Amino acid sequence: MKRLVVATRNKGKIREITALLSGLLESLSSAADLVGFPETVEDGHTFEENALKKAREACLFSGLPALADDSGLVVEALGGAPGVHSARYAGDDADDAGNNAKLLTVCREIPEQSRQAAFVSVLAFVTPLGVEQLFTGRVTGRIISEGRGEGGFGYDPLFLVDGFDRTMAELTLAEKNSVSHRARAFMQFKEYLMAHNGELS
Ligand code: IMP
Repeated sequence: MKRLVVATRNKGKIREITALLSGLLESLSSAADLVGFPETVEDGHTFEENALKKAREACLFSGLPALADDSGLVVEALGGAPGVHSARYAGDDADDAGNNAKLLTVCREIPEQSRQAAFVSVLAFVTPLGVEQLFTGRVTGRIISEGRGEGGFGYDPLFLVDGFDRTMAELTLAEKNSVSHRARAFMQFKEYLMAHNGELS
């Protein structure tokens, strides 16, 4: 497989995905590069449903193998919120700062040691020949009370990564890409691609 379309306009994700797949493809396009790329309504109840919906629409639109990532933050003490609503936690026009502010507010009553959380990434890969595959990655950590770090995007400054004394936003791109939920899902996707590459073009 030479070409792949990635169904996202999120610059943070595109940067990470480009690094994660470097050397594997001749060309990688994203929703941001293709005029008229459909805006998928993410109305699924699970990361899997949303990822599949995005990848199917991207494949249909482009006629190319398509990859979509649906990801988010899952906080145990909040019953799994913000979950599939991570991108719009603070409202439809929410940005990262607004979502982080809302997370801090709702976590205020929860003691820091009880704020176990995970980032989850589900990758859906769909091809014009009818292949549909899902890959899931997780990284665990804890929500802190004040943001730290300038890297990454989204909830990274509030997420203290298990096994590190740093937040996800304090890791370098290379470090984040060695432990993140997205990296773990991509590792599986890369293994799949290497095993099936000949059949996918
Ligand atoms: P999606 O584009 O529907 O998958 O929404 C993903 C949302 O989850 C993002 O807008 C972020 O709020 C959050 N998220 C996903 N991955 C990350 C990450 O690596 N770091 C921080 N936040 C993330």
